[in-house]
Amino acid sequence: MRTQLMEEAIKDGLMPSCPIIDIHGHWGPFSGIYFPKPYGDGMIASMERSGVVLNVFSSHAAIFEGFEGNLVTLRAVREYPERFRGYVVYNPNEPQTWERCRKLFEEYEEFVGFKIHPGVDNYSLLGKNYQPLFEYAHQKQALVLSHTWGGDICGAKAVRGVMEKYPEIRFLMGHSCYGEWEEAVKVAQDFPHAYLELTAAYAVGGLVAYFVEQVGAEKVLFGTDAPWFDPHYPMGCVIFAEISDEDRRNIFYRNAERLLGIELGD
Ligand SMILES: [Zn+2]
Repeated sequence: MRTQLMEEAIKDGLMPSCPIIDIHGHWGPFSGIYFPKPYGDGMIASMERSGVVLNVFSSHAAIFEGFEGNLVTLRAVREYPERFRGYVVYNPNEPQTWERCRKLFEEYEEFVGFKIHPGVDNYSLLGKNYQPLFEYAHQKQALVLSHTWGGDICGAKAVRGVMEKYPEIRFLMGHSCYGEWEEAVKVAQDFPHAYLELTAAYAVGGLVAYFVEQVGAEKVLFGTDAPWFDPHYPMGCVIFAEISDEDRRNIFYRNAERLLGIELGD
Protein backbone atom coordinates (compact mmCIF):
# COMPACT_ATOMS: atom_id res chain seq x y z
CA MET A 1 0.00 0.00 0.00
CA ARG A 2 1.30 3.43 -0.88
CA THR A 3 1.37 5.97 1.89
CA GLN A 4 1.08 9.73 1.55
CA LEU A 5 4.86 10.25 1.73
CA MET A 6 5.44 7.53 -0.87
CA GLU A 7 2.95 9.22 -3.19
CA GLU A 8 4.66 12.58 -2.74
CA ALA A 9 8.12 11.15 -3.34
CA ILE A 10 7.07 9.21 -6.42
CA LYS A 11 5.32 12.24 -7.91
CA ASP A 12 7.87 14.98 -7.25
CA GLY A 13 11.08 13.25 -6.17
CA LEU A 14 10.72 14.96 -2.82
CA MET A 15 8.13 15.24 -0.07
CA PRO A 16 6.66 18.74 0.24
CA SER A 17 4.96 17.82 3.53
CA CYS A 18 8.07 16.29 5.11
CA PRO A 19 11.29 18.26 5.58
CA ILE A 20 14.55 16.33 5.93
CA ILE A 21 17.46 17.01 8.25
CA ASP A 22 20.73 15.37 7.25
CA ILE A 23 22.50 14.78 10.56
CA HIS A 24 25.69 13.36 9.01
CA GLY A 25 27.17 15.48 6.24
CA HIS A 26 30.60 16.63 5.12
CA TRP A 27 32.00 19.59 3.21
CA GLY A 28 34.80 20.40 0.81
CA PRO A 29 37.18 18.35 -1.31
CA PHE A 30 38.97 15.18 -0.24
CA SER A 31 42.13 13.89 -1.89
CA GLY A 32 40.89 10.29 -2.21
CA ILE A 33 37.92 10.98 -4.46
CA TYR A 34 36.52 13.54 -6.89
CA PHE A 35 33.42 15.40 -5.70
CA PRO A 36 31.93 17.60 -8.43
CA LYS A 37 30.26 20.07 -6.05
CA PRO A 38 31.36 19.75 -2.43
CA TYR A 39 30.70 23.41 -1.47
CA GLY A 40 27.77 25.67 -0.67
CA ASP A 41 25.71 26.21 -3.80
CA GLY A 42 26.43 22.74 -5.19
CA MET A 43 25.60 21.09 -1.86
CA ILE A 44 22.46 23.18 -1.54
CA ALA A 45 21.32 22.27 -5.07
CA SER A 46 21.44 18.56 -4.23
CA MET A 47 19.71 19.21 -0.90
CA GLU A 48 16.92 21.07 -2.67
CA ARG A 49 16.39 18.29 -5.19
CA SER A 50 15.56 15.95 -2.30
CA GLY A 51 14.02 18.30 0.25
CA VAL A 52 16.90 18.37 2.73
CA VAL A 53 16.44 21.65 4.58
CA LEU A 54 19.38 21.39 6.96
CA ASN A 55 22.71 19.59 6.76
CA VAL A 56 24.76 19.11 9.93
CA PHE A 57 28.31 18.44 8.85
CA SER A 58 32.01 18.17 9.59
CA SER A 59 34.39 19.47 6.94
CA HIS A 60 36.84 17.06 5.35
CA ALA A 61 39.55 19.56 6.24
CA ALA A 62 38.74 19.15 9.94
CA ILE A 63 38.79 15.36 9.74
CA PHE A 64 41.88 14.92 7.57
CA GLU A 65 44.01 18.04 8.01
CA GLY A 66 43.80 18.99 11.66
CA PHE A 67 42.14 21.37 14.08
CA GLU A 68 42.22 24.42 11.78
CA GLY A 69 39.84 22.59 9.45
CA ASN A 70 37.14 23.41 11.98
CA LEU A 71 37.45 27.02 10.87
CA VAL A 72 36.47 25.93 7.36
CA THR A 73 33.31 24.53 8.93
CA LEU A 74 32.67 27.74 10.86
CA ARG A 75 33.04 29.92 7.77
CA ALA A 76 30.78 27.66 5.71
CA VAL A 77 27.98 27.68 8.29
CA ARG A 78 28.26 31.45 8.60
CA GLU A 79 27.90 31.83 4.87
CA TYR A 80 24.76 29.68 4.75
CA PRO A 81 23.24 29.85 8.24
CA GLU A 82 19.82 28.75 7.03
CA ARG A 83 21.06 25.49 5.55
CA PHE A 84 23.97 24.23 7.63
CA ARG A 85 25.19 23.54 11.17
CA GLY A 86 28.60 22.21 12.11
CA TYR A 87 30.29 19.63 14.29
CA VAL A 88 33.61 20.40 15.93
CA VAL A 89 36.00 17.62 14.95
CA TYR A 90 38.34 16.43 17.69
CA ASN A 91 41.33 14.22 16.83
CA PRO A 92 42.52 12.14 19.82
CA ASN A 93 46.00 11.97 18.31
CA GLU A 94 46.22 15.73 18.95
CA PRO A 95 44.99 15.92 22.56
CA GLN A 96 46.50 19.39 22.95
CA THR A 97 43.70 20.68 20.68
CA TRP A 98 40.89 19.58 23.00
CA GLU A 99 40.66 22.90 24.85
CA ARG A 100 40.43 24.79 21.56
CA CYS A 101 37.72 22.40 20.37
CA ARG A 102 35.75 23.00 23.54
CA LYS A 103 36.04 26.77 23.14
CA LEU A 104 34.84 26.64 19.55
CA PHE A 105 31.79 24.68 20.65
CA GLU A 106 31.06 27.05 23.52
CA GLU A 107 31.64 30.30 21.68
CA TYR A 108 29.97 29.71 18.31
CA GLU A 109 26.37 28.67 17.96
CA GLU A 110 27.22 27.49 14.46
CA PHE A 111 28.47 24.32 16.17
CA VAL A 112 25.87 21.94 17.57
CA GLY A 113 28.06 19.05 18.68
CA PHE A 114 31.23 17.07 18.16
CA LYS A 115 32.31 14.66 15.46
CA ILE A 116 34.92 11.98 16.00
CA HIS A 117 36.35 9.44 13.58
CA PRO A 118 38.13 6.63 15.45
CA GLY A 119 38.63 4.80 12.13
CA VAL A 120 40.52 7.54 10.29
CA ASP A 121 42.46 8.41 13.46
CA ASN A 122 43.08 4.73 14.24
CA TYR A 123 42.33 5.39 17.89
CA SER A 124 39.98 3.30 20.04
CA LEU A 125 36.80 4.92 21.35
CA LEU A 126 37.90 3.61 24.74
CA GLY A 127 41.32 5.27 24.57
CA LYS A 128 42.31 7.82 27.19
CA ASN A 129 42.53 10.83 24.87
CA TYR A 130 38.80 10.69 24.20
CA GLN A 131 38.02 10.98 27.92
CA PRO A 132 38.08 14.80 28.21
CA LEU A 133 35.61 15.10 25.33
CA PHE A 134 33.32 12.39 26.70
CA GLU A 135 33.45 13.80 30.22
CA TYR A 136 32.52 17.23 28.87
CA ALA A 137 29.76 15.95 26.56
CA HIS A 138 28.33 13.87 29.43
CA GLN A 139 28.18 16.93 31.68
CA LYS A 140 26.67 19.15 28.98
CA GLN A 141 24.42 16.45 27.52
CA ALA A 142 26.06 17.35 24.22
CA LEU A 143 25.66 15.71 20.85
CA VAL A 144 28.53 13.50 19.66
CA LEU A 145 28.47 11.91 16.22
CA SER A 146 31.02 9.12 16.06
CA HIS A 147 31.94 7.08 13.06
CA THR A 148 31.15 3.55 14.28
CA TRP A 149 31.93 0.35 12.44
CA GLY A 150 32.13 -3.34 13.31
CA GLY A 151 35.42 -4.24 15.01
CA ASP A 152 37.44 -3.30 18.06
CA ILE A 153 38.19 0.38 17.43
CA CYS A 154 34.66 1.72 17.18
CA GLY A 155 32.28 -1.26 17.13
CA ALA A 156 29.27 -1.82 19.37
CA LYS A 157 31.34 -3.13 22.29
CA ALA A 158 33.41 0.05 22.40
CA VAL A 159 30.28 2.24 22.14
CA ARG A 160 28.75 0.30 25.02
CA GLY A 161 31.87 0.98 27.07
CA VAL A 162 31.54 4.72 26.43
CA MET A 163 27.82 4.78 27.25
CA GLU A 164 28.28 2.86 30.49
CA LYS A 165 30.65 5.52 31.71
CA TYR A 166 29.01 8.57 30.08
CA PRO A 167 25.27 7.82 29.66
CA GLU A 168 24.27 11.49 29.27
CA ILE A 169 26.11 11.96 25.98
CA ARG A 170 23.66 12.30 23.09
CA PHE A 171 25.58 9.67 21.18
CA LEU A 172 24.93 9.14 17.49
CA MET A 173 26.30 5.84 16.24
CA GLY A 174 27.26 6.93 12.73
CA HIS A 175 26.71 3.99 10.34
CA SER A 176 25.09 2.09 13.27
CA CYS A 177 28.27 0.07 14.01
CA TYR A 178 28.17 -1.20 10.45
CA GLY A 179 27.81 -4.98 10.34
CA GLU A 180 27.24 -5.41 14.09
CA TRP A 181 23.55 -4.66 13.73
CA GLU A 182 22.18 -6.74 16.61
CA GLU A 183 24.78 -5.43 19.05
CA ALA A 184 24.16 -1.83 17.95
CA VAL A 185 20.44 -2.36 18.50
CA LYS A 186 21.13 -3.61 22.02
CA VAL A 187 23.17 -0.50 22.82
CA ALA A 188 20.33 1.72 21.55
CA GLN A 189 17.87 -0.29 23.66
CA ASP A 190 19.97 -0.20 26.83
CA PHE A 191 20.91 3.50 26.79
CA PRO A 192 18.24 6.21 26.42
CA HIS A 193 20.65 8.61 24.70
CA ALA A 194 22.31 6.23 22.23
CA TYR A 195 20.98 6.55 18.69
CA LEU A 196 21.31 4.61 15.45
CA GLU A 197 22.34 6.78 12.50
CA LEU A 198 21.66 5.35 9.06
CA THR A 199 24.46 6.63 6.80
CA ALA A 200 25.62 3.73 4.59
CA ALA A 201 23.57 1.25 6.65
CA TYR A 202 20.24 2.07 4.96
CA ALA A 203 21.39 0.21 1.85
CA VAL A 204 21.27 -3.15 3.68
CA GLY A 205 17.94 -4.73 2.72
CA GLY A 206 15.36 -4.71 5.52
CA LEU A 207 17.63 -2.96 8.01
CA VAL A 208 15.61 0.25 8.44
CA ALA A 209 12.47 -1.74 9.27
CA TYR A 210 14.45 -4.01 11.61
CA PHE A 211 15.87 -1.02 13.50
CA VAL A 212 12.45 0.61 13.83
CA GLU A 213 10.91 -2.61 15.06
CA GLN A 214 13.67 -3.20 17.61
CA VAL A 215 14.36 0.27 19.03
CA GLY A 216 11.47 2.45 17.79
CA ALA A 217 11.70 5.15 15.13
CA GLU A 218 12.51 7.73 17.83
CA LYS A 219 16.01 6.26 18.10
CA VAL A 220 16.87 6.23 14.38
CA LEU A 221 18.23 9.23 12.43
CA PHE A 222 18.74 10.09 8.80
CA GLY A 223 22.20 10.91 7.46
CA THR A 224 23.86 10.76 4.07
CA ASP A 225 27.61 11.46 4.18
CA ALA A 226 26.92 14.08 1.45
CA PRO A 227 28.75 14.92 -0.78
CA TRP A 228 29.84 11.26 -0.83
CA PHE A 229 26.25 10.29 -1.62
CA ASP A 230 23.34 12.19 -3.08
CA PRO A 231 20.50 12.47 -0.54
CA HIS A 232 18.02 10.90 -2.98
CA TYR A 233 19.40 7.42 -2.52
CA PRO A 234 19.20 7.16 1.28
CA MET A 235 15.91 9.02 1.18
CA GLY A 236 14.46 6.32 -1.09
CA CYS A 237 15.73 3.62 1.28
CA VAL A 238 13.69 5.14 4.11
CA ILE A 239 10.63 5.92 1.98
CA PHE A 240 10.35 2.36 0.72
CA ALA A 241 11.25 0.62 3.99
CA GLU A 242 8.32 -1.22 5.54
CA ILE A 243 7.58 1.32 8.23
CA SER A 244 4.83 3.92 8.73
CA ASP A 245 4.83 7.57 7.66
CA GLU A 246 5.00 8.52 11.34
CA ASP A 247 8.19 6.48 11.62
CA ARG A 248 9.54 8.19 8.50
CA ARG A 249 8.85 11.64 9.95
CA ASN A 250 10.69 10.71 13.13
CA ILE A 251 13.68 9.50 11.12
CA PHE A 252 13.70 12.34 8.58
CA TYR A 253 13.41 15.28 10.95
CA ARG A 254 11.62 14.97 14.27
CA ASN A 255 14.43 13.21 16.14
CA ALA A 256 16.98 15.65 14.78
CA GLU A 257 14.77 18.60 15.72
CA ARG A 258 14.63 17.33 19.26
CA LEU A 259 18.38 16.73 19.51
CA LEU A 260 19.23 20.09 17.94
CA GLY A 261 16.57 21.98 19.87
CA ILE A 262 14.97 23.43 16.75
CA GLU A 263 11.52 23.26 15.23
CA LEU A 264 10.75 23.08 11.54
CA GLY A 265 7.03 22.38 11.93
CA ASP A 266 5.01 19.70 10.13
ZN1 LIG B 1 30.85 10.55 7.48
